[in-house]
Amino acid sequence: MEPGSKVTLRWRGKILRGVFVKEDKGFIVLKLSNGYNVGIPKDEAEILSVEGREHIGKPRFHYRPVQNPDLPKVGIAATGGTIAARVDYVTGAVTAEFTVEDLVNTFPELNELATLVPRQVSNIFSENMVPSIWREIARGVYELLKESDGVVVTHGTDTMHYSTAYLSFALSTPKPVVFTGAQRSSDRPSSDAALNLLSSVYVAGYSPLKGVFLSMHESSSDGWNAVHLGTRVRKMHTSRRDTFRSIGRDPVARVYIEARGGRIVRKEFQLLDPEWTREHPLELRDHLNENVALLKYFPGMKKELFERVLLEHDGVVIEGTGFGHVREELIPLIKEAVDSGVFVGITSQTIYGRTHSHVYSTAVKMEEAGAVFLEDMLPETAFAKLVWVLGQTKDLERARDLMLTNVAGEITERSGIEWKL
Ligand code: ASP
Repeated sequence: MEPGSKVTLRWRGKILRGVFVKEDKGFIVLKLSNGYNVGIPKDEAEILSVEGREHIGKPRFHYRPVQNPDLPKVGIAATGGTIAARVDYVTGAVTAEFTVEDLVNTFPELNELATLVPRQVSNIFSENMVPSIWREIARGVYELLKESDGVVVTHGTDTMHYSTAYLSFALSTPKPVVFTGAQRSSDRPSSDAALNLLSSVYVAGYSPLKGVFLSMHESSSDGWNAVHLGTRVRKMHTSRRDTFRSIGRDPVARVYIEARGGRIVRKEFQLLDPEWTREHPLELRDHLNENVALLKYFPGMKKELFERVLLEHDGVVIEGTGFGHVREELIPLIKEAVDSGVFVGITSQTIYGRTHSHVYSTAVKMEEAGAVFLEDMLPETAFAKLVWVLGQTKDLERARDLMLTNVAGEITERSGIEWKL
């Protein structure tokens, strides 16, 4: 069997279909259509059929960029991730290999929507993202915005919401900037890459939205995509296509694209929140301080660990319990850190709901020690914001003011939807 062959086999009474990856220590390794690899003991497997190699990641179509003056111009800033990945049939792993040209070559329907302006910012899985690359993305998007009607950023899903948060602060934009990704690589038949990419290009090129957004599947099947605000979105599931959810608010818009045989047959955009069509100037404010940490408190966290994280950084966002608490014994360490110039911000590990410094005595004491309760800002958003804030000031009062100023919708109004799964 050649790597890449389509195999059907019977094992323990079950029929399994997948793509042959390799034989390893007496196991046949198959990649199933859901993207997962399984190892089947060779001597227990009855091979029923073996068909030719499946397409292994080369572009299926040849994309010729159409310079159509009637179509909007959409910048594509590619950073890597599964949307730009393919299955390596030697190792069975998914690797980030597509360049931005490969990516656009794969989806010829793009020719009907926009003239694309590609730009490769990085080619990494997003677990490898670091704040200095957030800044590169912001700079790349800023340049693309000068020559396009909107920009799509292709990105790994794992940490996409950190990047959308940073760009929401680092960039003021009069046009849509839409992040998207995929849970299944572009060369899988079950991939969500095409729909996510087409929907995002449609939003970037045609919608009245202004700001930084993230668009992915609204439900687990193909259909509508949700457009989430970049500061209020989070990856909530390891593998579902609708992994991203707006937290504490509704999505700002929805989009529907249907493509058949290389042609777009239906496209629709529904604006849900007109607030995000307000005018903004184009401005790059790419402040960055990389010496910032996000710390999840857990029962029994050692004083030494807590103290070290606080004292070795210029600022720390703590994910506290409930309204935002840490163990009482640690509170003097907060004071020590704040007194030495460290910004300490408090978010909640419940994800939903608002932090509060006046309900329990613990939080009252934490606030007295100098911790700043960050309303209902999501922990990852607060972290990205602190990277940005401490890149422009070391003054704790000024940092506190900026952290508590609603810059890009990161703090919701009290009347907002606080709980929706
Ligand atoms: N680990 C991948 C990444 O974040 C997952 C994905 O792209 O969906 O880059």
